[in-house]
Amino acid sequence: MINVTKGTEPIYLINQNADKNGEKERIIKFIENEKKTWEDLKKVFSFSVYSNDSVKRQLKTDFHSKCAFCEGIFTQNSYGEVEHWRPKKGVTGNSKHKGYYWLASDWNNLLWSCRVCNSTKYKGNHFPLKDINKTCYDSKGKLANEEPLLLNPCDPKVSIENHIEFLHNGIIQGKTIEGDTSIKIYGLKRPDLQAERYKHAIELERSFNQIKVAFQDLIFYLECERQSSLQSFGLNIKQNIKKKKKLIIELINIINERLSIKREFVGMNQQLVRHHVNALAKNKVLYKILKSRINLSLL
Ligand SMILES: [Zn+2]
Repeated sequence: MINVTKGTEPIYLINQNADKNGEKERIIKFIENEKKTWEDLKKVFSFSVYSNDSVKRQLKTDFHSKCAFCEGIFTQNSYGEVEHWRPKKGVTGNSKHKGYYWLASDWNNLLWSCRVCNSTKYKGNHFPLKDINKTCYDSKGKLANEEPLLLNPCDPKVSIENHIEFLHNGIIQGKTIEGDTSIKIYGLKRPDLQAERYKHAIELERSFNQIKVAFQDLIFYLECERQSSLQSFGLNIKQNIKKKKKLIIELINIINERLSIKREFVGMNQQLVRHHVNALAKNKVLYKILKSRINLSLL
């Protein structure tokens, strides 16, 4: 997971939500004024505003075609889905809850997710709170009083890195109760996902190991150049210095490419790159080079 800043709300949603006879107003009236149940509602009502093409397009763009939870990129065989962070039709584990039906087309409640994360096995209609007594049951309730145990990647007050961390082998673990709950509910420890992250994490580690070796070689050749007597070993010193510098730049470019927001698992990559760079702090020259050339805020 990584923090995502969504773009502006699609005009279609703004217009629909402002319409007094629109889907949102009709469902609030139906459930809250006419005191109908969700079972009654299902017979006459289906949500459709949130799944308008313009909304899907905007979400897909904002999330860079990646799942809000697992950060996987959808392939041709797996389409993205509009996900309601607060579920629109009932809440798992709370049979009294009809769902956050009034937020079905609320831009702040919409995410972009893969089918697996959004399935009933994982996120589905789950929305656990720290204190169930603070649950908001209708459109008049105060959502701000709820203390969700799930992380929302679009919440500007939340820094995902403060709640979730990745180990060098791509294993994910929580740092807080919100992190632990999100990993569990979003299914972020499922074996196929861990295996994918492992591949990416190992490739990053390999790039850093190659940089370390190339840098050691570079230092050796620079020393050879300084002590001109070593030229007698028959080494083409200048050419080797050039080659090693080029290799280090290429490896740094590969790492930077993996930090692109459009890449899969960039949330993990950012954390791992920071870890790898900081582990080289004793090698002052290399550390300085990496800090200045890798596109990451290395605090
Ligand atoms: Zn996913």
